[in-house]
Amino acid sequence: MADNQKMWADLGMNLEMHDMLCEVLPGAIGDVFMSQENRPAAMDYFDMVLADVHGLRPSELVEFRKKGGKVFGTFCAYVPDEVIFAAGGIATGLCAGSQFWVPGGERYLPANTCPLIKAMLGARFDKTCPFYRLADVYIGETTCDGKKKAYEILATDVPLHVMDLPQMKREKDYVKWADEIKDLIKVVEKVTGNKVTPEALAENIKKINAKRAALERLYKLRRNECVPISGTDTLLISQIAYYDDPERFAAQVNRLCDELEQRVKDGVSVAKGKKRILITGTPMAIPNWKMHNLVETSGGVVVCEETCTGTRYFENQVDESGKTLDEMVQNIANRYMGINCACFTPNTARADDVIRLAKDSKADGVIDVNLMFCQTYDIEGRSLEERCKAEGIPFLGLETDYTDNDAQQLKTRIGAFIEMLG
Ligand code: SF4
Ligand code: SF4
Repeated sequence: MADNQKMWADLGMNLEMHDMLCEVLPGAIGDVFMSQENRPAAMDYFDMVLADVHGLRPSELVEFRKKGGKVFGTFCAYVPDEVIFAAGGIATGLCAGSQFWVPGGERYLPANTCPLIKAMLGARFDKTCPFYRLADVYIGETTCDGKKKAYEILATDVPLHVMDLPQMKREKDYVKWADEIKDLIKVVEKVTGNKVTPEALAENIKKINAKRAALERLYKLRRNECVPISGTDTLLISQIAYYDDPERFAAQVNRLCDELEQRVKDGVSVAKGKKRILITGTPMAIPNWKMHNLVETSGGVVVCEETCTGTRYFENQVDESGKTLDEMVQNIANRYMGINCACFTPNTARADDVIRLAKDSKADGVIDVNLMFCQTYDIEGRSLEERCKAEGIPFLGLETDYTDNDAQQLKTRIGAFIEMLG
């Protein structure tokens, strides 16, 4: 802890304010995670990472930077980590899931901006997150309007490169995204001083694919009648995926999956008699566990997330058959363009995904959770509800933010929905 204090001071953090954040975390971890019964033993790794979230990984990144390494902070599931690692850099998600950072963001943004964007700015400008301090360059993307404008403000304080994400999925858009990835390669080469060679890119495509495969394995295990792990624990793993070392992370997820396979064989379930819920909607960045906690303390168990902290992050591999740099880049572009975010139009494939995943997960119902002021996901909610109802899948749409003000009201609505599932 003393070492962490020195590291945080060296990173120019606001220690007094950061202490306040550190004070609330252990209580939240206890309430949300440790209160669960019959957790898999292999959650120990993820618990450890969470307990020292601002110490463990940041200290590795500090050491990496001391040796000349460069760290790239990312905000979205569309940014291809493969390219950053291929240049010898490290990609880390800049999560923004805490209400703690929202007031800081409101100093720069209108109050009616989505909490995730406000928290991004608060975390940076309040100087209370080591990851935001550590990243040498931020990589933004033109997804929603709020983020685009927020990047302009962040760029006044930190080097920031924005990738221009197409918002349609025509053939020319796939070509355009490949071009954007080529521009990203130039940026990471310049910042790191290393060339992205075909060999390095091929190696890192495999590395990130292996991480996706581990997550896919974990999610498939949740489809069993006997649910071997809670949704809350799985959400934590998906959140950690954004910033942990990819190889170590994949190894730990596979270690956990070995245990879960045994649990399935032994009939060990964390959710006997509970209703199976698929959650869809906006991302749930760490430490946002609000909805999973509410569902799983109201008679439900979350068996799948169609979110960016869920299947959108790992479904579909990058084709590994590319030989030249151009082929590999196009294969990377094709994989990422397969993500179905509400910033695209049309985006009917997302509803297809929700229906497919709800059936595969044997979900009793779908809960669509949107962060307040996120227009694109909010608008899609209506057509999604119609699609689910047409398929006979019970649907509940909810809007929330990072505060606990609505927790009781949400619990009542979720409880009633789960009861209605019979
Ligand atoms: S919801 Fe869309 S914009 Fe947000 S992280 Fe996911 S892909 Fe990116
Ligand atoms: S939740 Fe919606 S408004 Fe917020 S950053 Fe994501 S896409 Fe933008």
